Amino acid sequence: MTASKKRDEDDLSPIRTCIGCRTRRPRAELRRVSLDAGGALVVGPGPGRGAWLCDDMACFESAQRSRAFGRALRADVAPDEIARLQRAWPACRAG
Ligand SMILES: [Zn+2]
Repeated sequence: MTASKKRDEDDLSPIRTCIGCRTRRPRAELRRVSLDAGGALVVGPGPGRGAWLCDDMACFESAQRSRAFGRALRADVAPDEIARLQRAWPACRAG
């Protein structure tokens, strides 16, 4: 019981860690990536686990190399999905 409560509080923390450079920053300065029901990577708020990244391609590539997406999302993330998101990364600045 206490374990799940702690996890909820952690998810609501205003400080998140970038999975690329491991820097702790206010969540407003980071970009959230999560998996939708079909296994596609999506940027922005959503249900389930999220991976947080700086708005920086270097962080994205670092996370990609270290397989940090799969670890953060606790799921197998298709390499094709990561590649697709990478192509869109510099363009999806909205939000
Ligand atoms: Zn970063």
